[in-house]
Amino acid sequence: MTELKYSTKEYQDKDSAHFMHPFTDSAELEKKGARIVTKADGVYVWDSEGNKILDAMAGLWCVNIGYGRDELADVAAEQMKQLPFYNSFFQTTTPPTVELAEKLASIAPDHMNHVFFTGSGSESNDTMLRMVRRYWQLKGEPQKSVIISRKNGYHGSTVAGASLGGMGFMHEQAGKIPGIVHIDQPYWYAEGGDEDKNEFGLRIARKLEEKILDIGVDRVAAFLAEPIQGAGGVIIPPETYWPEIQRITNKYGILLVADEVICGFGRTGEWFGSDALGIKPDLMPIAKGLTSGYLPMGGLLVGDRVADVIRNECGEFAHGFTYSGHPASAAVALRNIEIMEREGIVDHVRDVAAPHLAKRWAELADHELVGEARSFGLVAAIELTPNKETRAPFPGEGGRVGYICREHCFANGLIMRGVGDTMIISPPLVISPSEIDELVEKAKLCLDKTLADIKAGALDD
Ligand SMILES: *Cc1c(COP(=O)(O)O)cnc(C)c1O
Repeated sequence: MTELKYSTKEYQDKDSAHFMHPFTDSAELEKKGARIVTKADGVYVWDSEGNKILDAMAGLWCVNIGYGRDELADVAAEQMKQLPFYNSFFQTTTPPTVELAEKLASIAPDHMNHVFFTGSGSESNDTMLRMVRRYWQLKGEPQKSVIISRKNGYHGSTVAGASLGGMGFMHEQAGKIPGIVHIDQPYWYAEGGDEDKNEFGLRIARKLEEKILDIGVDRVAAFLAEPIQGAGGVIIPPETYWPEIQRITNKYGILLVADEVICGFGRTGEWFGSDALGIKPDLMPIAKGLTSGYLPMGGLLVGDRVADVIRNECGEFAHGFTYSGHPASAAVALRNIEIMEREGIVDHVRDVAAPHLAKRWAELADHELVGEARSFGLVAAIELTPNKETRAPFPGEGGRVGYICREHCFANGLIMRGVGDTMIISPPLVISPSEIDELVEKAKLCLDKTLADIKAGALDD
């Protein structure tokens, strides 16, 4: 371990003096000081004060094979010494990039055999938007350009990513590009009321059909959704939802895009969320777990229907990034997938970790503050409420209780994220049953502390 150059306080001061954080209230952070994370191993991270914390978010949903994998550092170093960079614009390519493309085609659904590389999930969604519109131009229907996505979906933070996403607070701050419309999300807990869950799933899926007919099928290019919404609060759709969506996209012939940036690479107990949920998408944006976060990289997996047209009829597809197919990132991604295969990590999720988490996580539903505990593969959420029967929200502005709970988690050695008053986790896929037990015990403790704060008047003002 290298010695730190500065004290915690010095890092915090320099941080607020010069570093603008993503998705952060800078004024609030300046008062408080950032937590400095200094090292990590397995499912744990350590801060500059020496606190050991179970990272139940796998960084930002990405460190799927866990921290401390020297093998990935070594493969990056070797590739950087051999060839740190070369582009793939001018009829050139590099060996790790080719090997990775072949590997991705082998683990992707059978009808997906091509990949367009990017640097992030946002760029993958931008690429998707440009490729979808180009596809319909080439099919002789350039007016088919509207993309339908969902309220409270997340597809990144570039201009296209934020516009495709359905986060109102993002649109409010910097606008939204035209040609993208949003339909309701399949969020039964918050929006289902007394309706049967499966009835609700069908009704919400049919909003897609209503929207297509409303806009006119001659103008609709594609439907975009995460198999399970991540950043929106780990929203697991009712079983009836995806089959109905698939029926509708088939019936009208519009492209189906499954944003696999979180669900991909084993998170659901299959290689892709689409495999787990029985979805047959035309395109899949990927990132995060692709490299387990060790280096930045994203991509768009392209099914044969679109690839045949773009490859044979487009001429030059006028799109790409300097770092499309970056050789060091590609080498890391390839080795990451090889490690997953060698260690049977997808099987571990499906057969060991997910069933154990499902059983232990369900216990949280007995807590006085919890209205619902849900999980799928290795994503999970609990809904905090003052009234378990009615699933009512807390009085006043949402998110205050989630924030209190998140702070207790940090202070007690657990990283759990709050989305409003929904607490969510997405731990490294290598998490063991005993680490899951530790996670759930810590979560219970922090729920108790949160409840005690509320009883002591934390919400009265
Ligand atoms: C994180 C995320 C993105 C954006 O990825 P970045 O690498 O942050 O640009 C897109 N889609 C989904 C579903 C995500 O979770």
